[in-house]
Amino acid sequence: MKQNSNLILYIVIPCYNEEKALPLTEKELTKKMTQLIKENKISKDSKIVLVNDGSKDKTWDIIEKIYNRNNIYIGIKLSKNKGHQNALLAGLMYAKDNADISISMDADLQDDINVIDEMIKKYKTGSEIVYGVRSSRRKDSIFKKITAEGFYKFMSLMGVDIVFNHADCRLMSKKTLESLSKYKEVNLFLRGIVPQIGYKTDIVYYERNERVAGESKYPLKKMLNFAIDGITSFSIKPLKMITTIGFIILILSFLVLIYSIIMKLIGNTVSGWTFIVCSIWLIGGIQTLCLGIIGEYIGKIYNETKQRPRYIIEKILD
Ligand code: UDP
Ligand code: MG
Repeated sequence: MKQNSNLILYIVIPCYNEEKALPLTEKELTKKMTQLIKENKISKDSKIVLVNDGSKDKTWDIIEKIYNRNNIYIGIKLSKNKGHQNALLAGLMYAKDNADISISMDADLQDDINVIDEMIKKYKTGSEIVYGVRSSRRKDSIFKKITAEGFYKFMSLMGVDIVFNHADCRLMSKKTLESLSKYKEVNLFLRGIVPQIGYKTDIVYYERNERVAGESKYPLKKMLNFAIDGITSFSIKPLKMITTIGFIILILSFLVLIYSIIMKLIGNTVSGWTFIVCSIWLIGGIQTLCLGIIGEYIGKIYNETKQRPRYIIEKILD
């Protein structure tokens, strides 16, 4: 008989009001896990971690039942709704202590669970992080497609280093989970943090399915907040833009100065006009520039307070 694989995989699933989707998800995931274990791709100690993010419906009761009938499942209950990112982190930190690799996915089976095989393959050939990237959004509504893709483009424009069209479906090895635990920030935006960890990474493409049941927990308002959160947790570009605007206004104010002096010399003005116009532009420019300078300092303070790890050592040859 072939020797059993000893690679322990924990699949982490954040669940918020997923009573409708969970039974279907359970069926699919159990099937997948059994198959992976049978094919010796992962250890039989592998688990599926369902994190209940303070659901208001029967989600937790369902998780308890699933746990009771199948010991491949683990249930984690958060004390209240803390949001997708925090629920995911809770599961990942649990996986860090118990597994060799984690794969995070949504509870609604929108992420194709067949990417798991490919992700494990990439891990076995040396990648420490494998990003699941959507190859198409044909099944998303046009509105969702435009807003979601706009989200990634805007984030990049604002100086946040993210993987285009990658949500939170990814494989992370124990090593990278340990690195992740060193990021102590409270405003969590995992898609921004994970690329900063480094190591060898890879991408697998998959088609995004429709939600199996229930509604999206990310309406436009939440998505906008998520984008603003992502930008303000990762980039001081908006602050730097103030400095640039200040400079531009200051340069314009010199042009206005020349213009108004010419007007005055031609005699095309009423008395006092030159002085007022020049003052407005000059003071406006100086004020914006000063705001920018203060912004630069706030940017520094902001970066210091995060206390992010300054480096992560991958290997030492000693
Ligand atoms: N989710 C969560 N806490 C929340 C909101 C969402 O744990 O406050 C989970 C949800 O159960 C799902 C995942 O995050 O597993 C993604 O949410 P959803 O599918 O609603 O987002 P969409 O795919 O529509 O962007
Ligand atoms: Mg979804």
